[in-house]
Amino acid sequence: MSMIDHADVVVIGSGGLGGATAFYLVQRGARRVALVDKYDVASQTSPRAAGMVSHVRSSDLMVQLVMRATKHLKRFTKDTGQPLDWTHSGSLKVARRPQDVKVMDGEIARGRRLGLDVQRISPDEAHRLNPFLRPEGVLAVMRVGDDLYFDPSQVAIGFARGAEAHGATILPHTTVTRVQIDNGQVVSVETDNGTIRAPIVVDAAGAWTRQVADASGIRIPMIPTRHQLFITEPLEGARAELPMVRIMDAAVYVRPCNGGFLWGAYEEDPLQFDMAALGPRFQVKDTPLDTEVLWRMGEEVKQQFPILLEAKIREHRGGIATMTADGQHIVGPAPGIGGFFIASGCNVAGLSISPAIGEALAAWIAEGEPPLDLTPLAMTRFSRESYSEERLKQETAWQYRHFYGSA
Ligand SMILES: Cc1cc2nc3c(=O)[nH]c(=O)nc-3n(C[C@H](O)[C@H](O)[C@H](O)COP(=O)(O)OP(=O)(O)OC[C@H]3O[C@@H](n4cnc5c(N)ncnc54)[C@H](O)[C@@H]3O)c2cc1C
Repeated sequence: MSMIDHADVVVIGSGGLGGATAFYLVQRGARRVALVDKYDVASQTSPRAAGMVSHVRSSDLMVQLVMRATKHLKRFTKDTGQPLDWTHSGSLKVARRPQDVKVMDGEIARGRRLGLDVQRISPDEAHRLNPFLRPEGVLAVMRVGDDLYFDPSQVAIGFARGAEAHGATILPHTTVTRVQIDNGQVVSVETDNGTIRAPIVVDAAGAWTRQVADASGIRIPMIPTRHQLFITEPLEGARAELPMVRIMDAAVYVRPCNGGFLWGAYEEDPLQFDMAALGPRFQVKDTPLDTEVLWRMGEEVKQQFPILLEAKIREHRGGIATMTADGQHIVGPAPGIGGFFIASGCNVAGLSISPAIGEALAAWIAEGEPPLDLTPLAMTRFSRESYSEERLKQETAWQYRHFYGSA
């Protein structure tokens, strides 16, 4: 696609979050929408995700957004015309410590109140549902009937192709160098292929979200953080419908994948990046990976999931998520600047929720106000405190490790 010189909205980044925003914009009738990416479309962190959807979250808003996202994922092909393979497996969340049982009870109460299919089951019942999970050392299990997983490589590309089919202009291999702001209002987007005049931009640049904003003098408090996973060789009995498993205190997850398991973990001391220091040509596929981290985490759960240490590994992959100090996304306008929207701060859960975030942002851009109260995700929540870079790194690392809400 050749370069354009003006647009109504420029979406920067064609991962799940940017792709979904562009798709829902054109689906609701926006005309001149450009989806710009520095590299190939949908080629960075999104296709490397685990593709798990978790409905039980730490706030009502997040549960409602995930429920909405799941509705969209289930009719993805109908809406976008693009394939999406998903499996409604349900999940089992495992507490091994009394303090985590308490957290779990709170989650069950919230889930019930919001209409989720959640219940406490016994460790033996959990073992019956997923025989690879052993009941020894397990105090409590929450079964979440709503949870599902999908093929992560299909979402962002599907949204981008769907957006293009509805009239969006897709511009791969186009690097945004700066969003030009005059008198507090976005006026244009400068790229290495020329300038696009536009009154509205969406910064959905994933690991590079901060850099894109920095170039316009906007500081977004988030830290790009490595997350990695293993996929095992096929294993006898590892059926696609087995419920996914999450072990709270160890922050280890497992789901069926191509006849084996996919598993990953949230370590105590995650690798954090300054994307500027990695240079202009760095791609997520260049992320340094470390098998030792995963083996160490596998050890932590070997009593419950011994197969993780025994199975042969077929694939090791990783990507760069964007962590915030409170573990919630950053979605909405940059304070004090007309037309600069942000869709980031994914906290390693941005792909599954991308349909709901994209839909909400598209409505916000089109109508001038959000379709639901997204204040808890506003960037302004951080402006009350001055986050030094050091404190931001510490707090985001804590959020990373405590991804499953363990106390
Ligand atoms: C191993 C792993 C497992 C995960 N598992 C899950 C999971 O189970 N469920 C879940 O929901 N989430 C999961 N996640 C998180 C999920 O992958 C992310 O939240 C999501 O993909 C983020 O999407 P994005 O659009 O922000 O980023 P990306 O997909 O990285 O897209 C950002 C895009 O912006 C482009 N860009 C950057 N800078 C510029 C620029 N200057 N100009 C133009 N374009 C630019 C990039 O090239 C890139 O294509 C996982 C992540 C990892 C790493």
